[in-house]
Amino acid sequence: MGADSIRRAAAILLVMLAGAAPWWAGNGAQASASANDAMVATIAAARERAAANDPRLKPALRFEEGGWIYVHLEGEPDAMGYQHGYLLGPEIEDGFAAVSAGMTHSTKRDWEFFRKAAKEMLWLKIDAEYQQELQGIVEGLRARTGSKLDVYDIVAFNAFEELPDYYVPWLDKQQKTPNAPNLKSPGNCSAFVATGSWTKDGQIVIAHNNWTSYKNGERWRIVFDIAPKNGYRMLMDGFPGVIASDDDFGINRDGLMVTETTITQFEGWDPNGKAEFVRARKALQYAGSIDEYTKIMLDGNNGGYANDWLLGDRKTGEIAQLELGLKAHKLWRTKDGVLSGSNWARDPKVLKEDTPKFDPNNKESSPNARRARWEELLKENKGKIDVALAEKMLGDHTDTAEKKEEANERTLCGHVDGSPRGIKEWDWEPYYPGGAVQGKATDSTMAKEMRIVARMGHPCGGDFLAKPFLAAHPEYAWQEPYLRDMKAGPWTEFRSGQASKE
Ligand SMILES: [Zn+2]
Repeated sequence: MGADSIRRAAAILLVMLAGAAPWWAGNGAQASASANDAMVATIAAARERAAANDPRLKPALRFEEGGWIYVHLEGEPDAMGYQHGYLLGPEIEDGFAAVSAGMTHSTKRDWEFFRKAAKEMLWLKIDAEYQQELQGIVEGLRARTGSKLDVYDIVAFNAFEELPDYYVPWLDKQQKTPNAPNLKSPGNCSAFVATGSWTKDGQIVIAHNNWTSYKNGERWRIVFDIAPKNGYRMLMDGFPGVIASDDDFGINRDGLMVTETTITQFEGWDPNGKAEFVRARKALQYAGSIDEYTKIMLDGNNGGYANDWLLGDRKTGEIAQLELGLKAHKLWRTKDGVLSGSNWARDPKVLKEDTPKFDPNNKESSPNARRARWEELLKENKGKIDVALAEKMLGDHTDTAEKKEEANERTLCGHVDGSPRGIKEWDWEPYYPGGAVQGKATDSTMAKEMRIVARMGHPCGGDFLAKPFLAAHPEYAWQEPYLRDMKAGPWTEFRSGQASKE
């Protein structure tokens, strides 16, 4: 039976069921309700059966391991999108609900505002292949769950790191919006990349932990193995429904190793630019060198989700830092050194023009305290750095401002829910439920074999429990429908082409 005949059979079944409804409806309200439930379930099952036979799904797969969901996507852009939407349908619906609630809450803008931004500002500048992939996601999602989301919902959702905290504050300033919320660009992540005399084997080691709200971070649990028709094979972590890694950590078949941390107190947006999530995905897919990566990120730079990109090229052993402001940017590169990130800019021009409010000398702020910790920790371990050590570093709890061991907002493994200070530079109030939500690492040898290690939850192994937190902090009650426990999984290895849990 071909896919078309299965679709026809499903359609006939739906017509038969629809015709049967009035007969059940005559048997009282209760019988009607349960008959209706049964009918809804049958329709859903028929839809899923029909979609599951879609030939586009054939090369794709999904399995779960160590708290992560691994998906393999392969082929033409629309097919990869369909696979993504179908295999992660329930997770996309759930992730969309949590993320969109956060976007509307912090900006005091309704969802229609974000759809409009996606449609009128972002959509036309998205490369055709990613438009097709995004449309494919919608189609796969609808086939799987019957979702009502359309492509503008999915585009706005893909831009969840750039629309609320970059576009909206820029717009509020332009329009002199009365009572505009105090929105600040986020400070996401701790990361480093090392090479040469700094690492145990002289090759590259790269590691990253993702800082975000626990609400979003607990859902940031996808390992994407992507084999596109054009460009390089990629292995990256990611968020359900989003086409870029977005936190970001990924490697490609041609030897690029990529991560980043955001630039604290960045200000600026170019409405005529190209969405960051598109440029970031394109750069991982098509760049075979540090120069090509830089070129793609600069092409149409819109200032959204402005990052300090940490890059490695395993073919040459070279590492680089691309500090990508909007008005200014700078690239540093070396074959013998270490580059770290914890949400601080360092180029004088970027500091002056793109982050005018950031104070690089305040030793008590989260970015600067973590910067000091990276410097001492990496120096202490010069010549010994490998993936096993990187895993430990990502879970580090040394607070350099108070010179003590305490998991808080200033430690490489962030636990802001335990901090009475919060992080004012990002507008994270005291005890904000956010911090380091997962970690990843790899080295040149592993990257050559397209392998990474990843740990879901705090990289130190600590758990976050939603119920006692919400009881102690009613000011975050609005997150209650979305905030879940975030329990740490084990460090787990994933590789491209993996077919199941190993
Ligand atoms: Zn920790």
